Amino acid sequence: MIIVLQKEATEKQLQDIVDKIKGYGLEPHVIVGVARTVIGLVGDKQGLEPRVFEGMPGVEKAVPIMAPYKLASRDAKAEDTLIRVGDTLIGGGELIYMAGPCAVESREQILETAYAVKEAGASILRGGAFKPRTSPYSFQGLGETGLQYLAEAGQAAGLLTVSEVVDPSDVDLVSKYVDILQIGARNMQNFALLRRVGQTRKPVLLKRGLSATIEEWLMAAEYIMSEGNYQVILCERGIRTFETATRNTLDVGAIALVRQLSHLPVVADPSHATGRRDLVVPAGCAAVAAGAQGLLVEVHPNPDAALSDGAQSLTPKQFEQMVGAVAQVAKSVTPEPTKYWWNRNAV
Ligand code: PEP
Ligand code: MN
Repeated sequence: MIIVLQKEATEKQLQDIVDKIKGYGLEPHVIVGVARTVIGLVGDKQGLEPRVFEGMPGVEKAVPIMAPYKLASRDAKAEDTLIRVGDTLIGGGELIYMAGPCAVESREQILETAYAVKEAGASILRGGAFKPRTSPYSFQGLGETGLQYLAEAGQAAGLLTVSEVVDPSDVDLVSKYVDILQIGARNMQNFALLRRVGQTRKPVLLKRGLSATIEEWLMAAEYIMSEGNYQVILCERGIRTFETATRNTLDVGAIALVRQLSHLPVVADPSHATGRRDLVVPAGCAAVAAGAQGLLVEVHPNPDAALSDGAQSLTPKQFEQMVGAVAQVAKSVTPEPTKYWWNRNAV
């Protein structure tokens, strides 16, 4: 259930409602939107009627949410969530690029990439330090040293940073160095990890699992949000299908649908979705046309020598060209939110 407050509700009224919710043994989540404040109720609400709250001063209405995900649902918050990190606004009108190598390999490599992607228009530098590799014999990342290089490069080039955390016990360490915590596809249902990043106040980039349904993906976001961290960015990175010609299958429809179902920002990763350098630009264009608010792109100064994911990595020059190509698509996507085709009321 969510409780929608009246626009003029006071702090005292809000507190009274929060206390009442707690009195039922439930956990209130206060979500302050631009247009309205809502309180999400999480916990076992069996038998609790909306009218228990509807008579209270400051309450406009109490509505049950049918979807299994509550805090992540558009019903809980009609307007898009904006996530501000430094000067960068994720989920706003501007397309955001998170770019960089699959893995941080050396100080020089990440510094060179950082300057190049910044120049091309990226605002966030990506680079894995803890790599979830399919084979235990493949390069596993530089660990904390990699995070240090990433943080240094981000600072030097004026970029925010994002890196994956694979173990709940590393969350504090990774948080020390990066602006955004990445949960990889293989860990989308690692519930202990989701809860742990939910206890931080760092934005979380939540990749869709290899074979996760949209509902499972949003439930993973709910795990993070239910711990009080509402800054979740959803990332469509391709799912596993019968097709083997591409590494994964970019689920373009999911991007448009998730924009309808959730208020959270949605980005796409055309690199892991395709696994092929020559498909990264068309897939990125398609994702943006479907409503992606940002792209995560693997860029390496020398892709052929990359220690991981070289085949899908763009050179800095190719990335620069990509930004230009995608901008053409972004321009043709209507900037008026009320006319977006993922706004249910517009269809
Ligand atoms: C990555 O971003 O390098 C990565 C491992 O991605 P995914 O979890 O989507 O496979
Ligand atoms: Mn990769």
